Amino acid sequence: MNPTTHICRICQGADWEELYRGLIRQGRFGNSTFTDRLVYRCKVCDSGWLEGTPVDYESDAYRESVDEGAGVADFHRAHDGEQAEKLALLGTNQLRGHCIMDIGCGAGSFLDLMRGMAGATVAVEPMRAYHATLQAHGHAVFPYTSEVSREWQGKVDLATCFSVIEHLEDPVRVLAEIRGLLAPGGRLLVSTPNRHDWLLELLPVDYPKFFYRVVHRWYFSAESLRRLGAAAGFARVEPFFHHRFDLGNFLLWLRDRRPSGRGKVPAEPVLDASFRASLCASGRSDYLYAWMSA
Ligand SMILES: [Zn+2]
Repeated sequence: MNPTTHICRICQGADWEELYRGLIRQGRFGNSTFTDRLVYRCKVCDSGWLEGTPVDYESDAYRESVDEGAGVADFHRAHDGEQAEKLALLGTNQLRGHCIMDIGCGAGSFLDLMRGMAGATVAVEPMRAYHATLQAHGHAVFPYTSEVSREWQGKVDLATCFSVIEHLEDPVRVLAEIRGLLAPGGRLLVSTPNRHDWLLELLPVDYPKFFYRVVHRWYFSAESLRRLGAAAGFARVEPFFHHRFDLGNFLLWLRDRRPSGRGKVPAEPVLDASFRASLCASGRSDYLYAWMSA
């Protein structure tokens, strides 16, 4: 598709520039596409967009490519450990008795944690192989936001959508559907990788082919996230930065040009905390979050 004739699905803008051209990740580190792929930046809303065909999120092949297996246990093994930091960002003051919906919840790692305090939990997940487990754990289950039954409309106090919007063909439509499900005063918390991750700047040859990936259609900055929320009808959109990986992972990337995970280099907690705070203050963290409300 010629980008000059492409209309941005977020802002309807038609003015694009090339953001990245090269190999991109297909699944885990080390697996890349065989041919160069193109990522365009919309000059109007600042979103990055990967050219190509959509991914099938109902398929086992997708989960096997990201989680080393498509089973419920594979999902929990891959994602249970990520939940503490979400809870730390969210706080626990406004959960008890509330209706909490997680969109793109997978096999329910986050919702299982919410279940004890929440009044009700609603799971939205396209992969049907997880549905029986989600139901057994007490969550109301729907494959898509467009299919959530009327009884939940206007009832959701807190919606969460972690690491999902970058996968969606039409994120404006899905966020607008979520907005329609929120109760008066309800809020949505969204997260996505930050396109201004410092490693993209420091390792312009090695890091982009890891950062850009086949399953991510969109690449957001704080500004483009603000534009996305506004396009979906949210009156208040408050982006903020969060750094997920530690100083050791960062140093080993610089040395080895590959991800190593957390905890591989001993560093004083105060040093690690100030490293993360510094990245967040300058907008170069690896992740972006945003609160959105009507
Ligand atoms: Zn745009």
